Amino acid sequence: MSIASPDIEALPKSDFIIGKPVNSDGLQGYAHLYPANGEVTRKVSVAGKDEVDMAVRAARAALPGWRNTPPNERRKVMLRFAQLIRENGERFKKVINAENGALFHQLDWFVEWDADLFEYNAGYADKIAGEVVPIWPQQAFDYTLDEPYGVIGILVPWNGPSISFGQMIAPAMASGNVCIIKPTEFAPYSCLFLGELALEAGIPEGVINVIPGNVEAGEALTRHPGVDKLHFTGSGATARKILAGAAENMTPVGLELGGKSARLIFEDCDWQQAVMSVVGTCVGNAGQACIAGSRALVQESIYDKFLADCQAAAGHVKLGDPLAADTMMGPVIHEGHCNRILAMIDHAREEGGEILSGGKREGGDLASGFFVQPTLIADPDNKLEITREEVFGPVVSMIPFKDEEDAIRIANDTVYGLASYIDSTNINTVHRLASRLDAGNVMVNGAVGLPTAAPFGGHKQSGVGRVGGIWGIREFIRTKNVHIAM
Ligand code: NAD
Repeated sequence: MSIASPDIEALPKSDFIIGKPVNSDGLQGYAHLYPANGEVTRKVSVAGKDEVDMAVRAARAALPGWRNTPPNERRKVMLRFAQLIRENGERFKKVINAENGALFHQLDWFVEWDADLFEYNAGYADKIAGEVVPIWPQQAFDYTLDEPYGVIGILVPWNGPSISFGQMIAPAMASGNVCIIKPTEFAPYSCLFLGELALEAGIPEGVINVIPGNVEAGEALTRHPGVDKLHFTGSGATARKILAGAAENMTPVGLELGGKSARLIFEDCDWQQAVMSVVGTCVGNAGQACIAGSRALVQESIYDKFLADCQAAAGHVKLGDPLAADTMMGPVIHEGHCNRILAMIDHAREEGGEILSGGKREGGDLASGFFVQPTLIADPDNKLEITREEVFGPVVSMIPFKDEEDAIRIANDTVYGLASYIDSTNINTVHRLASRLDAGNVMVNGAVGLPTAAPFGGHKQSGVGRVGGIWGIREFIRTKNVHIAM
């Protein structure tokens, strides 16, 4: 099987959006590789301190104009942007595929997600109102103003930069902020594409700035005094550095971090759906998902048979060309990440973990890409490193539990708290457990996609704050109190 090349013609034309599109001829260039065949797509420019500084200046220059744009005008231009996203959906999908090897035939959802986020949040633009504070019978009048922070610095990972783009920028813009988004050099294209489209839609220059870059740009943005709020999506290790850097100017930080989410599978589950959910955790985006249910907790009474069925289903997963309609699973982002996942699997073996399926890099026709087989590992005691640390790859640990109490104990025995899943047809079990799982999101009997109107975020070391719905808007406004003596 040969791997088709991604459509390079579809890629955005600019290297940065700093107010307007900027071409910098491979400044500190990074050779971006298509993860499915390891071939260079393009030499991309990587922002340094200077580009960060220019982006902050462009954003600050745009702030008064955008903040003072009548909310109904903000709404209209955001709706135009949403419409353009849909109209350019096919090209958008090609761009996402080229940047991280995502399966083309599964990308309609990504287009809809960003368009929907801009539409949904546009509706809030003219509905952000303050409150009158009841202080009678004092001779005074007291009210609140909900105001934008100003310049928002947004740092995003490579697994779904276009998702983060809509999640953060749509609510930030609706509430009158301007944004600088920094995707990584590993997946720079979709944010640049959306940045170009935003200008075409009539969003004023400087409201959305896009500067792909690595740690240097990240640190510069984090410590820049011209940034009023930071929003970081990424790993806990980086979050600690961001918090330390942001402390210099006491810049507030929202955090969307990783997880080690548990899926609780009871003997009364919808069997087929539960099996597909476990294997699907490895398969979807090659396991590179923050909300991956990477610990499958299975009731003892069904443990052996359930494992056998998951093994069989994992064996049928077809890895291959992300542009082919029958491919079920694609590559991970790059060679370094591939090696990190394989090293974690090797370590699990050394620690006594039983590899039930997969565990290797794909060879043969796929050897030049970064393909890791869907991997299931039995860990009866919930104690292997691979069960406790986020892998961010196609690996699920299988752990038996006795009863509800035992399931809750194991599920909450982690420093993370992003998502949790319950597979049970007993509504009483579901409600009892939903309130006891220490996680920001509980998903029951399969997930049909995250609703735009719902809050999303983590407990414990999985994050601070929420995106989505009115909760997402609140992340980007700060409340001022006005007190008038009469
Ligand atoms: P990462 O933490 O390495 O990088 C994230 C971002 O921070 C990138 O833009 C990177 O360039 C930047 N960065 C790295 N070091 C920095 C530093 N010292 N100072 C400032 N910026 C720095 O994460 P990653 O490997 O790109 O992504 C994987 C992680 O992201 C996983 O932990 C995953 O769970 C998490 N994630 C969370 C969510 C969520 O919504 N909760 C969504 C997607 C991914």
